[in-house]
Amino acid sequence: ERKQLHRLRREPSRTLDGIDIKLYANAESREDVAEAHALGAAGVGLYRTEFLFLQRHELPDEDEQFRVYRDVVLGMTGRAVTIRTLDLGADKADRTGLALRDEPNPALGLRGVRLSLARDGLLDTQLRALVRASGYGPLRILLPMVSSREEIRTVRARLNRVIEEVRAQGHEVADQIPLGAMIEVPAAAIALPSFIGSVDFLSIGTNDLVQYLLAADRNNEALGELYTPLHPAVLRMLSSVIKLGHKRGKPVAVCGEMAGDAHFAPLLLALGLMEFSLHPATLLELRRSIRACDLSQLQANAKGLLRARDRASIEQWLRDNTP
Ligand code: PEP
Ligand code: MG
Repeated sequence: ERKQLHRLRREPSRTLDGIDIKLYANAESREDVAEAHALGAAGVGLYRTEFLFLQRHELPDEDEQFRVYRDVVLGMTGRAVTIRTLDLGADKADRTGLALRDEPNPALGLRGVRLSLARDGLLDTQLRALVRASGYGPLRILLPMVSSREEIRTVRARLNRVIEEVRAQGHEVADQIPLGAMIEVPAAAIALPSFIGSVDFLSIGTNDLVQYLLAADRNNEALGELYTPLHPAVLRMLSSVIKLGHKRGKPVAVCGEMAGDAHFAPLLLALGLMEFSLHPATLLELRRSIRACDLSQLQANAKGLLRARDRASIEQWLRDNTP
């Protein structure tokens, strides 16, 4: 069975009815990038830059960041690379002193793009490093914890300025550097029509989206099954984000753990998802699941999924629609 899975490295992530689904890798190290490449990932869908900032007291400067981002781009040899700006907050073991300490409610605190915008120079340094790395291959920039249109527009304006500065300094810069938003705060999903025109792509972070939507801490084991993507509110939200994204011509991926669980593949395909981003460890399993799915059949059954009124009926739908 492991051998069979291994053979899938060179096979397309194509459904039974011939539709290609994009499987990107989540990564945070060189090793992850090398593995993603070897497994035939379509690219890196989520490069988490936090690790660069953790376990140390000093901030990485522009050159250090540039080298790391450039190496991710080079490591993927022309496949798309999506790098997320710093998603730090009091929820992570930060020693740089960037994040506030002892926030009463870190999950609702100064984290992600909020922190990047609140600390002088933090965002611009990271943007400069990313813009320089874009000279080495296709690179997209992804913003975490976006909750409003203003955040995106502020970052977009800074990005445009940084692009001009970096070019003026003689560095090679890509013609296009798409800017996208994580959809992981329910407000961003609900207000999506108001700012979708300001983003180039979307990536749904189900880990946080489920947490905030269900008011269920993603790390609190006492909550048991209360923390689950198998809730009608979650499915409706996923469906509406995916539909609106596609209607407006914006690529939509899911990059939370949900995308990496091969059992959920029929459900996400039924909701119209065409891009998954997941840890390389389960990429081949997901590919195997997708290759067994009939996309048009699943999409024909999507109505039943969205009508499900509780977890048990969603699970029943999954059983009925798992090949
Ligand atoms: C998410 O929230 O689903 C996500 C991918 O981001 P992180 O797990 O890094 O918060
Ligand atoms: Mg998140």
